[in-house]
Amino acid sequence: MKLTIEPLLFELSKPGRSGVELPACDVPVLSISDLLPSEGLRSTLPLPELSEPEVIRHYTHLSQLNYSTDSGFYPLGSCTMKYNPKLNEEVARLPGFARVHPDLPDTAAQGTLEVLYSMQEILAEIGGMDTVSLQPAAGAHGELLGLMLIKAYHDDHGQGQRCLVLVPEAAHGTNPASAARCGYTTVTIKSDGRGRVDMAHLRTLLTENQENVAGLMLTNPNTLGLFEDDIAEICAMIHTAGGLVYCDGANMNALVGRARPGDMGFDVMHFNLHKTFSSPHGGGGPGSGPVGIKSILEPYLPVPQVVKTDGGYRRDYDRPKSIGRIHGYYGSFLCILRAYAYILYYGRERLANIAENAVLNANYIRVQLQNSFDVAYNELCMHECVFTAKRQQRERGVRALDIAKRLMDFGFHPPTIYFPLLVPEALMIEPTETESMETLDSFISAMRQIASEIETDPAIVLSAPHETVVHKLDEATAARKPVLRWREQHK
Ligand SMILES: *Cc1c(COP(=O)(O)O)cnc(C)c1O
Repeated sequence: MKLTIEPLLFELSKPGRSGVELPACDVPVLSISDLLPSEGLRSTLPLPELSEPEVIRHYTHLSQLNYSTDSGFYPLGSCTMKYNPKLNEEVARLPGFARVHPDLPDTAAQGTLEVLYSMQEILAEIGGMDTVSLQPAAGAHGELLGLMLIKAYHDDHGQGQRCLVLVPEAAHGTNPASAARCGYTTVTIKSDGRGRVDMAHLRTLLTENQENVAGLMLTNPNTLGLFEDDIAEICAMIHTAGGLVYCDGANMNALVGRARPGDMGFDVMHFNLHKTFSSPHGGGGPGSGPVGIKSILEPYLPVPQVVKTDGGYRRDYDRPKSIGRIHGYYGSFLCILRAYAYILYYGRERLANIAENAVLNANYIRVQLQNSFDVAYNELCMHECVFTAKRQQRERGVRALDIAKRLMDFGFHPPTIYFPLLVPEALMIEPTETESMETLDSFISAMRQIASEIETDPAIVLSAPHETVVHKLDEATAARKPVLRWREQHK
C-alpha cells in the first residue's frame, strides 16, 4: 500500500472524543477561580480530541513514513549511518543497567562502574591515548571539552595569551563553532590541490602567530574522505610552536582497529560512539562523544573519572585542577553501554574488519560511479567519497539537491549534499561496512540511471521526488515559517 499524507488523515480531532477516562473527583470541589486569579485562567484549551486507537494509528502511520537504517540504505556522508545491531539494544535494556539509579552509591553500582571503567580503557587503546573521559554527550560536546582541556593546559603553563585555534577549510562546522564557544579565535587553513592541509599556508600561519597558537583541530581522514598523509609533520610543527593538536575523531570508522590518532601525534581527540560504535542516532540524540587525551592533559579532566581500587570501582571527584563538570552523572550511559556491547562483540581481533570493509565499500562506489559523476579528488579514498555535480549543473541545470531528491524515488536516503563546503555541488557518500554487495549495486544502478536521465530527460530529475509521500518542498518557506506543532487553526 502506498502511504500518503492527506489533510483528512492528519486532522482527526472531533470535539468530545477522548482516549482517557478520569475517575470522578472525590475531593471537595472548589471553583478553580477561588484558587487562581482570573487573569491566569484561559477559557479554552484547544487540544486535539481523539480516541486511543486513533492516536496509536496516527503515530504508527507517521513512523511508517519515516526512513531509517532499519528500513534501507542510508549513505549520509560524515554521519556513519551503519546498521545498529539489535544485540546492543538487548544489552541496553537489561534491567540491571537500564534501571540503575544515578544517585546509587558507588558500592551499589559496581557493574555500571565496571562498564564505564572498561570503556575508558578500551577507547584509550583504540585511540592510542592515555585516558578517556566518557562525559560528553555528542561529538560537538567532545570538541568543546577537548578545547577546554587545551585552554586549561595553556593557562596552567603561563601561556594564557594563546588565543588562536587553526582549523582547515574542510572542517566540519562544529569545529570552528566549538573553538568560538570556548573563547578562541579561529584561523582557517587553506586546502591544497590534493584536498589536504596546505602545508605552505600552515607554515606561514605558524610563523606569523608563533606565540598565540593554542592548537590545531584536524579531522583525519578529513571530510573529503582523504587521509591527511602529512599528519606526523603537521603535529610536529604545532608542537614546536607550543600548541596542542586536536583530532576530530568522527571519522574513526575509517581507522578503527587499523590506525590510532595517538600514534599520529594527536594530543586529544573525541570519539562519536553513536557513529563509529553504532548507537541509533539522528534527530538529536542521545549521543556520546568521549574524549581521549595524552597524560599531559590528565590533571584537567572533568569530574568524575571512574577509577579502579583494590575493592572495585569508584567515581573520583578529587581532582584539584579539573575543569569541573560538563555533564550530569555518568554521561550518556546507555549509549556508552551499546558501544561497549558492539566493541566486545567484534573483539580486538575483528575490530579492524569494520574499517577495512567501510573503506572497501566507499572505494567500490567511487570506482563504479566515476564515469557517471565527477569525483572531487579522484584517488583511493577512506570510508567516504565525495562527488561533484558541478558539470551537471553547468550543462543541464541539475543540482546536487535535485539528484538527492531523485534518489528518494529509488527508495534510498540521499547522501549528504553541499558539504564539505569547498566542493561545489557536493554529494558525499558514506556507505559504511554494513551494506551487502547487492545493496551497493542497486544504489549504483540508481545513480547511473539518474546520470543518464540528466542527459536525456533532466525534467524528471528537476521535478523529483515523484514517489515519496510529499513531493518537492518549498524549503525556504519551510525554514522561515516552520510548522512544528498541531494548532487548532489547521482544522
Ligand atoms: C558528526 C560530526 C561531528 C559532530 O558530531 P555530533 O555528535 O553530531 O555532535 C563533528 N565532526 C565531524 C567530521 C562529524 O562528522
